[in-house]
Amino acid sequence: MNRMFDDNRIEDGDRSYVVEEGAGFVLLSAPHQVEHGREGTIKQAEPDTGRLARCLNERIGCPIIYRCGSSLEDPNYDEASAYRDRIVRFVEEKGIKVVLDLHEMAARHQSMVEIGTGHGRNIDDRDDLLAVVRRAFESHGIEPVTVDTVFPAAGFFRVSSDVARRSPACCFQIEMNVRMFGFDACPSAFEAVCGSLEEAVIRLGEVI
Ligand SMILES: [Zn+2]
Repeated sequence: MNRMFDDNRIEDGDRSYVVEEGAGFVLLSAPHQVEHGREGTIKQAEPDTGRLARCLNERIGCPIIYRCGSSLEDPNYDEASAYRDRIVRFVEEKGIKVVLDLHEMAARHQSMVEIGTGHGRNIDDRDDLLAVVRRAFESHGIEPVTVDTVFPAAGFFRVSSDVARRSPACCFQIEMNVRMFGFDACPSAFEAVCGSLEEAVIRLGEVI
């Protein structure tokens, strides 16, 4: 389908993503908050990532971008992605220095949070920034936090790897275990994750 993008709207009226502007130099991204397709199969949505992004936008005013609509495009897999292009433009326009790309991973994984850095490549080997993100979760009792173990975001067309390659921003892929969000999860778990991301955004803003 030939689509023309005008800022965050698609010409045919079916919006594929939403940008909510804010303050600061850290952008939160939730590319899988709606269902997406991958090689003929439909992958489940990760709705908590969108909730978290909107919660943080309201609380601390950081800019966010998230997928919406029913197009089944997958910004974390497809070779071409208007979503990723929009982030690259946003980074340039607003001087964004860090992108946190939020995901949910299946309950079978042992990690509570897996941080993907492309083995350092997507974050310019900024171990100091990595330590800030890791500590933000651990200080809220969320562990184990692993790095580049299950989902290193090393592939070519990941949101974080592609945006890092095409822009000056340091990009983290943050996979959060769905066990923290399920019906049987502790009600305070969502709040702990939200608090962790809030701390990460604020601290990153101080050190970058
Ligand atoms: Zn995902």
